Amino acid sequence: MKVHSALRHMPSILRKRRPIQLTFFVTRKCNARCPWCFYLNSRDPSADGELLSLPEIREISGSLGRLLWVAFSGGEVFLRGDLAEIGAIFHDRNRPRIMLFPTNGLLPEATVEQTERILRRCPGSVIVVKVSLDGLNGDHDELRRSPGAFEKALETYRSLGRLRSRYTNLELGINTVFLSENQDRMDEIIDFVAGLDIRGTHTISMIRGNLAEERYKSVDVGKYRRATDRLERNLKDGVASIHSFAGSRLKAAQDILQRQLIHQTLLADRRLVPCYAGNLNLVLTETGEIHPCEVLGSSLGNVRAHGYDVGRLLKSDRARDILGPIADGACHCTHECNFIMNILFNPGLYPALFKEYLGLGRVRPDAAAAPAASAGTASCPSTAKTDSAGR
Ligand code: SF4
Repeated sequence: MKVHSALRHMPSILRKRRPIQLTFFVTRKCNARCPWCFYLNSRDPSADGELLSLPEIREISGSLGRLLWVAFSGGEVFLRGDLAEIGAIFHDRNRPRIMLFPTNGLLPEATVEQTERILRRCPGSVIVVKVSLDGLNGDHDELRRSPGAFEKALETYRSLGRLRSRYTNLELGINTVFLSENQDRMDEIIDFVAGLDIRGTHTISMIRGNLAEERYKSVDVGKYRRATDRLERNLKDGVASIHSFAGSRLKAAQDILQRQLIHQTLLADRRLVPCYAGNLNLVLTETGEIHPCEVLGSSLGNVRAHGYDVGRLLKSDRARDILGPIADGACHCTHECNFIMNILFNPGLYPALFKEYLGLGRVRPDAAAAPAASAGTASCPSTAKTDSAGR
């Protein structure tokens, strides 16, 4: 089966009238205890509500139309035993080009088993699994408050890697949350990931959201810039990898531009480009709340109260009242998932995007298959939920 085309979404470049990127928080449960997780720390009053069931998810998905991208989030998504069935619902009804599954990697066997079910059931989507890695060895365990987390994350990553010979639509990645406690260890983390024997991309997500301990957000913007420069250099030198699906070179260019814009946004402390949250992007929680994005605490309403019809919910007065100020530039943030749409669907940024695309020179997805440096392969020197995705 051919992977669903992204070109069907080109009209959204001009008309941003319906969501094409959905982040679905499938569970609030997690087996790690990261003190800097915004989701587990959020005070959402609906958090104790009943989980959306499969029939309810089917109805919601049916109201959404074609999607470009579905990112699952939590909590730990692989704790939800029906994750493959949920993925299949979106695959069949919304035909997303990409489905993203971030994981802390603490459940190697369950993650591989569920990923294989998803791959078998969803051949029309690129399935991206991103394992979180925020430090090396004990640093990672400590950050995640989970002894043995580092070794388990690597075991999960390598076991997933073995699936790739059988499933060409599987893409792997590592995501690192950039926070005060690891900002001085970025070089070693980046080099370690670049040297892994299993090919995959490496992304860095800036810490975000309301945290129980705000100190984790005391980051040095200059250090963020140095870390993202290193990622870019590794990519251009052929040390780091890009995805292998069609269009991945454009995605790599968008990643580079995105990190530049995030750096500039942090320095300027204001929004620098339009945000399409609520128009092109939506967030659905495990109890049915719809948010324009992960950062604003505002719920546009619960789909259960709108007959599971997202379109109808978006036409409500409440939704209009919340979405108006967003379009007017009332807020700003650094959330990578929103930057994806804010870049790819903003023609005003195409010259900058094209420049980064050309700057990738001879970087080719195939070249990424070769393990680069030997640093940090099996003999390592000794994972967000801050993030849907790892994105
Ligand atoms: S700028 Fe950030 S906080 Fe504001 S709506 Fe967009 S994603 Fe949400």
